[in-house]
Amino acid sequence: MSGVRFFIIALVITLAIQVQAKKTRVDRIDPPGWWTGMRNPDLQLMVYGKDIAETTPDISYNGVTLKKVIKMENPNYLFLNLTISPETKPGNFEIYFKKGKKIVDAYTYVLSSRNKDPELHQGFDGSDVIYLLMPDRFANGDNENDDVKGMLEEANRKNSLSRHGGDIKGISDHLDYLENLGVTALWINPLLENNMSEQSYHGYAITDCYKVDPRFGTNEDYKQLVKDAHKKGLKIIMDMVANHCGTGYYWNDDLPAKDWYNQWPEFTRTNYRGIVQSDPNASNADYDKMVKGWFDVTMADLNQHNPYVAEFIIQNTIWWIEYLGLDGIRQDTYPYPYKDFMATWMQRILEEYPDFNVVGEVWLNYPSLVAYWLDNESNNDGYRSYLTNVFDFPLMYALNKAFNEEDGWDRGTLALYETLAQDFLYSNPMNLVVFTDNHDGDRFYTKMQEDIRKFKLGMAFIMTVRGIPQIYYGGELLMTGSEHEGHGYIRKDFPGGWPGDKVNAFTQEGFSGEQLDAFNYTRRLLNWRKTNEAVQFGEFTHYIPESGVYVYFRHTDDEAVMVLLNNSEKEQKVDLSRYSINLKGYKGGKSVLTRAIFDNLDYLTVPAKSPMIVELVK
Ligand code: CA
Repeated sequence: MSGVRFFIIALVITLAIQVQAKKTRVDRIDPPGWWTGMRNPDLQLMVYGKDIAETTPDISYNGVTLKKVIKMENPNYLFLNLTISPETKPGNFEIYFKKGKKIVDAYTYVLSSRNKDPELHQGFDGSDVIYLLMPDRFANGDNENDDVKGMLEEANRKNSLSRHGGDIKGISDHLDYLENLGVTALWINPLLENNMSEQSYHGYAITDCYKVDPRFGTNEDYKQLVKDAHKKGLKIIMDMVANHCGTGYYWNDDLPAKDWYNQWPEFTRTNYRGIVQSDPNASNADYDKMVKGWFDVTMADLNQHNPYVAEFIIQNTIWWIEYLGLDGIRQDTYPYPYKDFMATWMQRILEEYPDFNVVGEVWLNYPSLVAYWLDNESNNDGYRSYLTNVFDFPLMYALNKAFNEEDGWDRGTLALYETLAQDFLYSNPMNLVVFTDNHDGDRFYTKMQEDIRKFKLGMAFIMTVRGIPQIYYGGELLMTGSEHEGHGYIRKDFPGGWPGDKVNAFTQEGFSGEQLDAFNYTRRLLNWRKTNEAVQFGEFTHYIPESGVYVYFRHTDDEAVMVLLNNSEKEQKVDLSRYSINLKGYKGGKSVLTRAIFDNLDYLTVPAKSPMIVELVK
């Protein structure tokens, strides 16, 4: 196109837009950009603008076809169904919005080339240790963004439920610390905009699904964080919410359709009873309340049975995976949306990223209930979730009990044994994410009654049992907090993350002796775990606890690890002849925690209330 011709066309468009500016214009289009080379050629754009439905959209770009234009009951929305053929080249194109022949607005849409780096989107597995952190509470890397004009809530560190100023820069500044600690993946609580008037720090009331909250940084900052983390061998797991959005979302006051949200005559809260989703005897009343009730007054329940809501959520997920180069997703409140939708959501992710992993927050207390949600083909009602990973809540509950009780016929470490004995329910128990604690419950050290011996037993267990371990920020330095005091107390600021902090966890400055002990212990355990394939992927064989000692093995054809958890208040001399089948072929061992060498496997003496992890030697 010649320069003069281009100039004239641009001038005409500009004038046309100016004439119509007050009447009709495009405020936003979601997703704001897309990629060529996706396996699914379809794309649905959600256009928002005053009376935009009075216009006719027009697209002219090689390979891109505008197949259908859909009007909602609200004239301020249009949905455009596009197909992007496989040979389409990346580039920008204009979407013109016309009235008759007159162009009333234009939007430049960007099609980028899909990132085909085979290292990306590889998911997570037993070789990983996940570190959960809450970005507002981890480290304040930039105090200039603590308060941002136009955002409703200001930072106030004195209030446990206000924003404290932590941000993306705070995370990227401390990747060295995390790498050194020995974790391999970061699960970061939601970073997307939460423009709510209070309690916006936790991130679960999202008000813009395509934008990082400016108090955390920008979309570009998030992308750079993923790149920087990858350089250090750290994976990033994004926290997502398909069930609800914050009532501060722009569409809240201008819903695309009446059924965009699940609506009730008056505010109706969910009953939080995830059990009804798999219960063959559940009443419809309980089901409706569970799935269609709102999670909170500030969290509107999205109706994924509206096909445009469903497509919006699915594309939003794929957009972030592709845009950031994510390794995994943690999906919030997994049993709260319609389960058929969640299965479709999972299938669509796996269609684009076959090796990807999603861990669902299925917060239910029994292995049978959790197993229903971990992808399997044997649910009696025929439901198949396609969900690759779930959190092992039942094992977390067993862990809370085990080391706080003396062992007995049905007490103490038998809780661990009994829970793991139910692994037959799971399609693949190795896909469970096992954890000490998270941002919704008492901190691990508090649950261990602030007894460092119990802390060590619990950490040793989580790092050696089958599954993918996850710890919670600050656990490594014995942070405490009880949920009954309020959520702010289990989400305290990480020491050293703010200027002037007396204790600095990043340098261990100001640590108590026990904190330093816990930190070094965790670091040693995690860094050893990176090197041992048996503990990452090996089979799990356990023995019924005896004399207060729970013994189990992780083993492959080539290596084996023996774990002895002495839950008694006495030193125990353990006769190893009972374990001879698992010890066959090994003549000695090495203690991972003390580095002691054992030149025979007749007896092992385990100190009171202590773990022993032995790498067996042939
Ligand atoms: Ca900040």
